[in-house]
Amino acid sequence: MTSAGRFAPSPSGELHVGNLRTAILAWLFARSTARKFLMRVEDLDRARAGAEAGQLRDLAAIGVGWDGGVVRQTDREHLYAGSIAQLAAAGLTYECYCTRREIQEAPSAPHAPQGAYPGTCRNLTDAERAAKRATRPPAVRLRSTVAEVTVQDVLHGGYTGVVDDFVLRRNDGVTAYNLAVVVDDAEQGIDQVVRGDDLLPSTPRQAYLASLLNMPVPEYAHVPLVLNADGARLAKRDGAVTLADLALASVTADQVRDILLASLGLPPGRLEQALATFDPVALPRDPWVWPGVPVALPAAGVPPRTDSRGA
Ligand code: GLU
Repeated sequence: MTSAGRFAPSPSGELHVGNLRTAILAWLFARSTARKFLMRVEDLDRARAGAEAGQLRDLAAIGVGWDGGVVRQTDREHLYAGSIAQLAAAGLTYECYCTRREIQEAPSAPHAPQGAYPGTCRNLTDAERAAKRATRPPAVRLRSTVAEVTVQDVLHGGYTGVVDDFVLRRNDGVTAYNLAVVVDDAEQGIDQVVRGDDLLPSTPRQAYLASLLNMPVPEYAHVPLVLNADGARLAKRDGAVTLADLALASVTADQVRDILLASLGLPPGRLEQALATFDPVALPRDPWVWPGVPVALPAAGVPPRTDSRGA
């Protein structure tokens, strides 16, 4: 199987400069190691009409190209169902009937880490399951046999995190992100995962799941996020942060690409030109604060100002 990296956006809205910077990094990591670069749309959840096309257009506009066609998770339910069936056959799943609130309010198991599923439905009898199933459709959880797992990350070194009985299929029937991402990466031959470091805490769960499914664990590189001026994670409400917003402020896609490359200590111009100097070890390890752009957008509905004395 080919060796590949990828970018895997969720089509929930427009990409902002933080997402675009992560995409550039994923592309640079893959291309600098002679890997293919694949595009996977993670549309199982939170997909908004039109968002995918806009995201792909923006990625192409800053020079992030990909090999082959775009893969969509909604076309791959059969793969996820197959893997869940495989885990179920090995006794590694159970049905869970808890509401979010019940989980929050349940006393946590002794020594269980904060936020871990308390195990309420793990050891129900058949009769209890039948009774609960009549009241609520079940989610499917992994029957984990470990408490934590250590993964290796190119930028973070060894990272140890919680592996609880996490959800594989939600009770509305939608495959959970942690299962889909593991199955897709393995099935697509992705052996290098570059993404925002907000996902580092999920990585031990994913690596453990890959090992249970006899799938290879990819190389991980979790890259720093982009922050707003207040030090919070950049979001759409932070002003002109998408290519469309920035175009209104007369900032072109090429200029955005160059601003993002400069933030990584890389030369301006086509991404291919940055490959010669790209060195993962030299990458900044701290989050980068989006400097913002002086934007003078006309306020909606307000007519242009004229000299009041002349009126
Ligand atoms: N779809 C996820 C996101 O947009 C990224 C998942 C991943 O890269 O593993 O946050």
